[in-house]
Amino acid sequence: MSLRFYNTLTQRLEEFKPLHDNVVRMYTCGPTVYNYAHIGNFRSFVFPDILRRWLRARGYQLDHVMNITDIEDKIIRDSKAAGKSIDEFTAVYTKAFLEDTATLRLERPERIVPATQHIPEMVEAVQQLTERGHTYVSDGSVYYRISTFPEYGKLSHNDFSGVRAGARVDVDEYDKDDARDFVLWKAAKEGEPAWDTPIGKGRPGWHIECSAMAMKYLGDTLDIHTGGVDLTFPHHENEIAQAEGITGKQFVRFWLHAEHLSVDSQKMSKSLGNIYTLRDLKERGFAPEALRYLLASVPYRKKLNFTFDGLKAATTSIERLRNYKLRLETDKFPAGMNEAFAERTRRASAVFDAALDDDLNTAEALAAVFDYVRGTNTAMDAGQFLAGNVPAALEFLTRFDSVFDVMRPSRISAAGSITQAASSFSGTAHAGGLSDAEVDELIAERATAKKVRNFGRSDEIRAQLASQGVILEDTKEGVRWKRS
Ligand code: AMP
Ligand code: ZN
Repeated sequence: MSLRFYNTLTQRLEEFKPLHDNVVRMYTCGPTVYNYAHIGNFRSFVFPDILRRWLRARGYQLDHVMNITDIEDKIIRDSKAAGKSIDEFTAVYTKAFLEDTATLRLERPERIVPATQHIPEMVEAVQQLTERGHTYVSDGSVYYRISTFPEYGKLSHNDFSGVRAGARVDVDEYDKDDARDFVLWKAAKEGEPAWDTPIGKGRPGWHIECSAMAMKYLGDTLDIHTGGVDLTFPHHENEIAQAEGITGKQFVRFWLHAEHLSVDSQKMSKSLGNIYTLRDLKERGFAPEALRYLLASVPYRKKLNFTFDGLKAATTSIERLRNYKLRLETDKFPAGMNEAFAERTRRASAVFDAALDDDLNTAEALAAVFDYVRGTNTAMDAGQFLAGNVPAALEFLTRFDSVFDVMRPSRISAAGSITQAASSFSGTAHAGGLSDAEVDELIAERATAKKVRNFGRSDEIRAQLASQGVILEDTKEGVRWKRS
């Protein structure tokens, strides 16, 4: 079966192939940097990461662009309140976002592009829309007249024909089903940042930012555009009206939208105050890869309700996989090759591939892995798993991890920052190994994890230390350790 994605535009599963050559041109709406991103936001960023990795596994190259929204109403409001310049203020949260994405092992898109560095491109896009009769000016601001774009509504599948009588909005986000002429260029206001440009002194609206930058780097027609489902309307609908209003060509072939992360069945959002950040989870003793696993484990179009039990279950699942790998690497198996088992490995791998080809069905892909791990452990216990079966079993695990990327443990330092463990997890001690201070840090982290009853994490640390040749002994006086 071929690679298929659900396209919001056509509301169907469609076979995917890039338009040009082997390169997938893809755009992801990035963060608005006015605060720390929460783990709901990260669901929308883990999804394109899984997508990228699977496209590559299927032989494609990527040209992936993500924007950073670093000028916007909330940024202006909150930077003022913090007494900082816009640049100072957004630099802090841009840096935090990039750190968090690295901690979650999200591959860097080929290009990360800040809005404020593309003002001339946005101005030019507004000028082109004006030349084609899509705009009007009111109080110095430039608006898009949506009645000039008859296909408006085709992405969100709403019929907006009744509400196009020139009502307009100045803000970037507004209610679903409430289509209005939207602002492309906001006239300068007292105390707000503004650029002096041929279309007047002011600043860009949010929507024009994405169309202008996507087309600059990826051309008139993109293969894939991703974002959270809440961006479908108005943001992506407006992106289409802008881009297609300029070029007359299809802007995006495949629109892919990630469902929300909820808490107690409500969307996780800053305005509801029900958010957790990566930093919050770290303080509770959870490893970042547990969150990565949790966010990736539910197919991106399904709702995912966040719970700490879910995060603990993710920790346990990772730990099972690590123990299994350790067993593969360190147990002595009888010589020879079990052909029937080799066939089982090939089948499991084929089921894994087919699941991800099917609109990234990560839940089924994981089920294929765990069925296989269970079967392998049973075969090992029965002496039917032979030394000749090890390489293919390890290879399957490597293929799994090239997408899920959870096998390598992260290290949480005493200072609280998470760093990637320098070495990969394996059953043998590594050259150089951990320093005494690093061992002490991990032991301290294990104590914290036990205190918060996160036994998955504490066991994981014990296993990580064992893999580095450090043996722990829990005594009445505390933990003693020695190198084996
Ligand atoms: P923002 O930083 O607000 O521009 O949002 C960045 C991304 O996070 C967008 O793609 C949003 O759709 C997405 N997002 C916001 N809240 C959630 C949530 N609770 N679950 C999943 N994605 C979300
Ligand atoms: Zn966008």
